[in-house]
Amino acid sequence: MPTYHAQITHDLPQNADLVIAGGGIIGAATAFFAARAGLRAVVIEKRPLLATLTTPNATGAFRAQFDNAEEMALVREGIALYTNFAEVAELPGYDLGLAQQGYLWLATTAETVERQRTLVEQQRAWGLDDVELLSGNEARVRFRYLAPEVMQARYRAGDGWLDPRKLAMGYAIASQATCVTGTAVTGFTFSGERISGVQTTRGVISCGVAVIAAGPFSQQVARLAGLELDLSFVRRMRMIMPEVAEVPADAPMTIDEETGAHWRPALHGANLLWTAPNMPPGPPLEDVTPSDDFAFGLLDPESDHSVARISPFWRAVWERNTDNWCLRAGQYSYTPDHRPYLGPTPIPGLFVNCGYSGHGIMGSAGGSRIVVDTITGALTPADNPFRLDRPIVERALDVL
Ligand SMILES: Cc1cc2nc3c(=O)[nH]c(=O)nc-3n(C[C@H](O)[C@H](O)[C@H](O)COP(=O)(O)OP(=O)(O)OC[C@H]3O[C@@H](n4cnc5c(N)ncnc54)[C@H](O)[C@@H]3O)c2cc1C
Repeated sequence: MPTYHAQITHDLPQNADLVIAGGGIIGAATAFFAARAGLRAVVIEKRPLLATLTTPNATGAFRAQFDNAEEMALVREGIALYTNFAEVAELPGYDLGLAQQGYLWLATTAETVERQRTLVEQQRAWGLDDVELLSGNEARVRFRYLAPEVMQARYRAGDGWLDPRKLAMGYAIASQATCVTGTAVTGFTFSGERISGVQTTRGVISCGVAVIAAGPFSQQVARLAGLELDLSFVRRMRMIMPEVAEVPADAPMTIDEETGAHWRPALHGANLLWTAPNMPPGPPLEDVTPSDDFAFGLLDPESDHSVARISPFWRAVWERNTDNWCLRAGQYSYTPDHRPYLGPTPIPGLFVNCGYSGHGIMGSAGGSRIVVDTITGALTPADNPFRLDRPIVERALDVL
């Protein structure tokens, strides 16, 4: 792949059309869509490098298979970009590490079989006509590693994964935005009630628009402007096993829909994940410490969410106990309805792009395009289902 560089500096420009607080994947995507709309953005990132807090912990997976039409549309917009990124971003040869090997959701109870059927019907009604519903035997013929307990599967071949840091840096590079690293946003300046600038540890930058894209620190940054965001932060982990002989390299994201445990091929092994349902929220953290219990819970065949339940070859991996692993941890930023906050706030000139609730890689393109459209006026609040003052409908926790 050719070498490209983002515009990184420690010199704070005096002004910008918009200033983005946070240089993770969401800040970078905001800069990308701002540039496409003809806006001169500056990204302020407090860490020494872009995309080093939550973003690198993600497994980078994307799926159109959602349980609501709005998030499905949001992610489908992203998939269209990710599958064509080098061309659209005008970065010839830029490689996102994209793999479209599908998402395979597996049912082992009658209730989940029924739920899958209803969901696939709904998805088809929303225009997603390429989700296949497979019987247990059909699934086992296609994916030979599946357990006899699998009763049914829903599968979409066009879902998959990519490298989150490559996408984040691709956005930053293509935006040509100035990215000021090692610099924290510490406050805002106002002209009357309107944002007139952003205060940082290197001085003030004037702007008419500021966007909060500070991941788990978005609530703290919003408070600097006197805005309260209803967000909670929950530790989530990823287990990386770089070498596991049994993992089929062409396998899809394989999800136990009963427990939420899932794995997908990575390196010469796999990434394994699980969203613990009762993990308590905590304060935003710079360093999130993983715990070995996460690895044991996924691998131990006796665990109630063992990956061996639906893919029995994992039992041999546990019994052999020779394959190495490492763990990464970051925080999901949850909103009360687990959908992102996108667009204007009650403070004129202040916008939010945060609260992706575990879907920030796949939602980065659709979400950031919406935010930029609300800045330019191309999208009205009424047409934005992710606006800050939407009616909040409580929804069950997504298993992924
Ligand atoms: C284990 C795990 C697995 C995941 N898997 C997936 C997946 O498969 N697919 C998916 O779509 N999503 C996934 N996610 C979610 C995804 O990682 C996040 O939604 C996404 O990375 C959020 O990006 P962000 O830019 O908002 O946050 P971050 O990456 O945290 O970036 C925010 C940035 O803001 C900076 N910042 C904070 N405060 C300030 C300040 N005052 N001034 C300047 N800068 C500041 C931070 O330093 C940071 O760099 C996963 C998350 C985890 C933890």
